[in-house]
Amino acid sequence: MDTATDTPIAELQPMLRKLRAAQAAHVPDYAQRRDDLDRLRSVFQRRVEEMAKIVSADFGNRSRHESLVADGMTVLAEIDCFRRHLKSWMRPRGRMVNWLFLPARAQLRMQPLGVVGVISPWNYPVSLALNPLAAAIAAGNHVMIKPSEHTPRTSAFLRELLAEVFPPDRVGVVTGGPEVAAAFAGLPFDHLFFTGSTALGRKVMAAAAANLTPVTLELGGKSPCVIAPDFPLPLAASRIAAGKWLNAGQTCIAPDYLLVPRNARDGLIEALTAAVRTRYASIAGNPDYTSIVNEGQYRRLRGYLDEAAGRGVRCLELAPCDSAIADAQRLIPPTLVIDPPDDLAIMREEIFGPILPVKTYGTLAEAIGYINDHPRPLSLYYFDNDSRRVQTMLERTVAGGVSINDTVMHYAQERLPFGGVGPSGMGRYHGRDGFETFSHHKAVLFQSRLSSMALFKPPYRGLADTLVKFLTR
Ligand code: NAD
Repeated sequence: MDTATDTPIAELQPMLRKLRAAQAAHVPDYAQRRDDLDRLRSVFQRRVEEMAKIVSADFGNRSRHESLVADGMTVLAEIDCFRRHLKSWMRPRGRMVNWLFLPARAQLRMQPLGVVGVISPWNYPVSLALNPLAAAIAAGNHVMIKPSEHTPRTSAFLRELLAEVFPPDRVGVVTGGPEVAAAFAGLPFDHLFFTGSTALGRKVMAAAAANLTPVTLELGGKSPCVIAPDFPLPLAASRIAAGKWLNAGQTCIAPDYLLVPRNARDGLIEALTAAVRTRYASIAGNPDYTSIVNEGQYRRLRGYLDEAAGRGVRCLELAPCDSAIADAQRLIPPTLVIDPPDDLAIMREEIFGPILPVKTYGTLAEAIGYINDHPRPLSLYYFDNDSRRVQTMLERTVAGGVSINDTVMHYAQERLPFGGVGPSGMGRYHGRDGFETFSHHKAVLFQSRLSSMALFKPPYRGLADTLVKFLTR
């Protein structure tokens, strides 16, 4: 497969105009949307193995199983959710009217917004493009999408796949780097959906503000993982390993750092070491362990480790890997960084790789205080079987989403909204929340032949006067 070539910036406005004209001329009804989703599902399902190979070629090595689940199954499940529920979600919903206005009726109608822009990142380059696209299509919009330049083969695959499913005036695919992306973000979409870093999110919001285009920002940050004093460490370690070393930690909701009681630290290190050994006998040449996506990201992560080691901080590689092979294949083994000071880059920046700092705490209040002293995270993980302490953690911290006694799994729940809060994002999607994000919630009042409001008219005497006195009593 050829890699994607850049879309000329001059073509963006005409592409948007074409999509908008087609959407306005034929607003997709239920039958059209259902047919769109059916075709998307069947073409994607047919090409899902090919997809895993292409993503792997972009990464250097990307676990086939992880691609099939995280970039394949999640998309099919999301489309199936829309196919199952779309008809009922599209139905106008009755709302009670204030009794003063009886017998009028009120209704909420979900209406397509028009043309939606989607900008997606490289780490799950298929699902983070197709899931918002499917939600926007389910809501009756036309879509213009720009996948990441860092996974160019996958972007070319997406362009080909979407051209097979949709006519060019329903879905348009734009490819290119930061310049094309910046021009894309400046288009007057009816909604702009962005997934990427917090730094880019600021730029996207600024560009969208010029058009008053509403945005959904799915951003990143440092997601803490806290282990309570008496929680079984092997179970915590196994679930932390599953969430952290999936995709070699290149996951927006991967646990970014651990907070563990001081006296449980060494036990947890031991349990994490055992969990890694059962998962990865070796790292080099292991098809199940994913490479770092490109040299820039690889050097950034190596830089974190070099800085920590240079400061005398203990860095523990949990699986050995020859350094020449590591450099050639952009591999970083699962690595713990023990008790890092907060001024290290690894504690200031989102890690987005297989390195896991282990910090200790004395009391739960101290752990909560540490979390609250930092920007609001996309996800928070808490391992505890004491329901009172779980309540405390949930009430005293603010995070986009939470898994209790697990990592990452709240993401996979189609009935839970997914999104960040503050610097980790704004807005939400998945399942019905995605459908609603891409719909205008139109409020409609059906007035009746008789209306008590007819009494409220000048001259404000008699009945009007009595009515005002009654309403302001
Ligand atoms: P990236 O570099 O692939 O960028 C994301 C997209 O933004 C790309 O399509 C890129 O072309 C585009 N872009 C670049 N410059 C732009 C500009 N000026 N205006 C508009 N768009 C522009 O990906 P990344 O940002 O390195 O992705 C990693 C980050 O994304 C991490 O912080 C991660 O936590 C976050 N992320 C969040 C989620 C989520 O669902 N919340 C999911 C995945 C990744």
